[in-house]
Amino acid sequence: MAYGIRPSLPRVEVMLYLLEHRTHPNVDTIYKDLLPKIPSLSKTTVYNTVQRLSEKGAILRLTIDEKNVCFDGISEPHPHFLCKKCGKIYDLNFVPKANIQLDFSEHLIDEVSLYYRGICKECLEKMK
Ligand SMILES: [Zn+2]
Ligand SMILES: [Zn+2]
Repeated sequence: MAYGIRPSLPRVEVMLYLLEHRTHPNVDTIYKDLLPKIPSLSKTTVYNTVQRLSEKGAILRLTIDEKNVCFDGISEPHPHFLCKKCGKIYDLNFVPKANIQLDFSEHLIDEVSLYYRGICKECLEKMK
């Protein structure tokens, strides 16, 4: 095989899964959904895989839900919204405010989190 690099099947599958499922799944969900496809998969493998992918900046690790670390296949920082009723995590469209100027000159920033919490439009609809 070229250069002796063996592509790790779980890593490829987890990456593809995250790109296809923009629902910000946690390790349990990724594991459950991939198991029929990769019967030899273990939860530890999924855990280690997402950990490594997020350390490399290939995916985002979200801590918007304190009880549940979630992952996002889009690694470009973007704002997230957590519904406190149904627990779903949504991507928010970023509308930059022209006047906000942050001074990043003194720090090395390697992680950006923009978290919003509230009640999503689906739950608001149900409450009517
Ligand atoms: Zn909701
Ligand atoms: Zn996202």
